[in-house]
Amino acid sequence: MIVVLKQNPNAEQLESLIAWLKEKGISIHTSAGENHTILGLVGDTSQLDMDLIAALDIVEDVKRIQEPFKNANRKFHPADSEIPVGNTQIGGDTLTIMAGPCSVESEAQIVGIAKAVKASGATMLRGGAFKPRTSPYSFQGLGERGLEFLKVARQETGLPIVTELMDLSQLPLFKDVDVIQIGARNMQNFDLLKAVGHQEKPVMIKRGMAATYEEWLMSAEYVMSGGNENVILCERGIRTFETYTRNTLDLSCIPVLRRLTHLPIVIDPSHATGKSWLVEPMACGAVATGADGVLIEVHNDPAHALCDGPQSLKPEEFDRVAAKLLKIHETVKAL
Ligand code: PEP
Ligand code: MN
Repeated sequence: MIVVLKQNPNAEQLESLIAWLKEKGISIHTSAGENHTILGLVGDTSQLDMDLIAALDIVEDVKRIQEPFKNANRKFHPADSEIPVGNTQIGGDTLTIMAGPCSVESEAQIVGIAKAVKASGATMLRGGAFKPRTSPYSFQGLGERGLEFLKVARQETGLPIVTELMDLSQLPLFKDVDVIQIGARNMQNFDLLKAVGHQEKPVMIKRGMAATYEEWLMSAEYVMSGGNENVILCERGIRTFETYTRNTLDLSCIPVLRRLTHLPIVIDPSHATGKSWLVEPMACGAVATGADGVLIEVHNDPAHALCDGPQSLKPEEFDRVAAKLLKIHETVKAL
């Protein structure tokens, strides 16, 4: 349910409305807009008498929200969310460019790539330390050592780091990570979502391979209902009947999510296509369509990468793509 307040509501009446709602076990999400303040009510609102609330002096309008996601709903929070991360932010006017290898392979590798992508305009460094691999015989990531190498790369470049949390037991190791990534395979690991909802680091939730928008937004809701509103959504391609590309990139998620939610949207053309030559056109399409950011895999030697070499750009290729993306973003902003 949302309660739209009249302009300059009487403070005492507002306080008593909020106290009354809290007494009923309802939590309140306040969104102060230019003209009106909106109270988003979360909890069992079926017990509330809408007419009674609508009749209050300070209330302009009361509406029920049909969608099961509340905190993530744009109706609760009409303005786009901007999430501060280190010296940058995700959402708003900034184009976030997350770049780096699929997996951290060594200190020299991640530091070298971090320096290169930073020089090309990346705003964040990505790299997996804990890797969800389809085969147990594939490289599983460097684990804790990989996280340490990422921190060295951050120190050397100033780039905030985004890396995947696979399991609850790893959470204490992630205290110093800037953005926690929840991978596609864990999008509905509800215990993991609850745990990251009870801490403060921003959380980027990748779309599950067969997840609907509503399921994806309900995963965001799990994190937000725990108190952590810093959620980013990342489309990384979904499973369809097409096998030419690794997955099928669903760019229509950008306008659809814009309508449904206030959360920032990042597009990952690398995992979506699985082919390095498709990364540039799809990243351009994503930025032109209004994505808040892209996630691009970059490797110094893709042919010998321990993971996802075929979809990785070389640093010099990334340099060209990043320059193009920044130009497209400037153009889109000016339209
Ligand atoms: C990744 O970003 O390295 C990754 C494994 O992504 P996804 O969860 O989208 O497959
Ligand atoms: Mn990868």
